[in-house]
Amino acid sequence: MLEERARRERRLAQGAGLAAACRKCEIGAQRRNNVYGEGDPCASLMVIGEGPGETEDLLGRPFVGRAGQLLDKMLAAIGFAREEVYICNTVKCRPTVPGPRGPKNRAPDLAEMANCRSFLDEQIDIIRPRVIVALGAPAAKSFLGRDFQITKMRGRWYEGPAGIPLMVTFHPAYVLRQTGGELTAVKRMVWADLQAVRTKLDEPIPVPEPAPPEQASLF
Ligand code: URA
Repeated sequence: MLEERARRERRLAQGAGLAAACRKCEIGAQRRNNVYGEGDPCASLMVIGEGPGETEDLLGRPFVGRAGQLLDKMLAAIGFAREEVYICNTVKCRPTVPGPRGPKNRAPDLAEMANCRSFLDEQIDIIRPRVIVALGAPAAKSFLGRDFQITKMRGRWYEGPAGIPLMVTFHPAYVLRQTGGELTAVKRMVWADLQAVRTKLDEPIPVPEPAPPEQASLF
């Protein structure tokens, strides 16, 4: 397992190097740091957000701002320390629009997500998690298509990339924007989604059937 971990770490480091050198999108030239992803290369759970925000861009790490602090609490609620999970985004550079006080965050567009997809697919291939959680509509749409509607379609199991079970829940930044009764309702839904993830991960790992003995050797 140690060797396998080292092999995965090497592949992730190579991927991070390639992502850092990528300039396929304009945002590649605008960002301060590439935010490839971080966490346990042998994680059973992979969390995928939409794209880095200002703090992530500054530090080169995913989910380290206010939404990240809430994500850490969400993970803790189902028994995971942040380091035990692999965390990344659909795009590795911060998507921005000009604002009066400097660049403002925006959702990644389809072309940016398509340009970055090979990095994400490779991360999924390296980690091979048992479950993927997509946070928010843009991340969900990147796997389930443009018609995905988070309010109607979250909280169910989907077949994700490489056949990995995929759960979609609300993005922690969306949760942080809610108040009053809406906040209570959204928190309840996120809690239910996370419980479903915990239950899925607690299921025994299926052991492959042993191959039947070679018939030819009987004669
Ligand atoms: N929001 C995201 O989708 N990803 C981050 O890394 C931070 C905030």
